[in-house]
Amino acid sequence: MRFKMQYKRKICKFCENKDVVLDYKNPSTLRRFLTEEGKILPRRITGTCASHQRQLVTAIKRARNIALLSYASDVKNV
Ligand SMILES: [Zn+2]
Repeated sequence: MRFKMQYKRKICKFCENKDVVLDYKNPSTLRRFLTEEGKILPRRITGTCASHQRQLVTAIKRARNIALLSYASDVKNV
């Protein structure tokens, strides 16, 4: 019962690895934070910190705008 509400604490990927560039020009990086449907994964799933999550959302939206990242991913065809 003690573990019921406990989530395994994850470290923010962007804080942990400074080499990961949070940029809309990196769709491969952004895609790791999206579901198969192309929705943005919530912070509690990915473990991204608040400030980076905000940057991530901005980057994803920007990427959608310039169509580097599509709403529907093509992963489903595999
Ligand atoms: Zn962070």
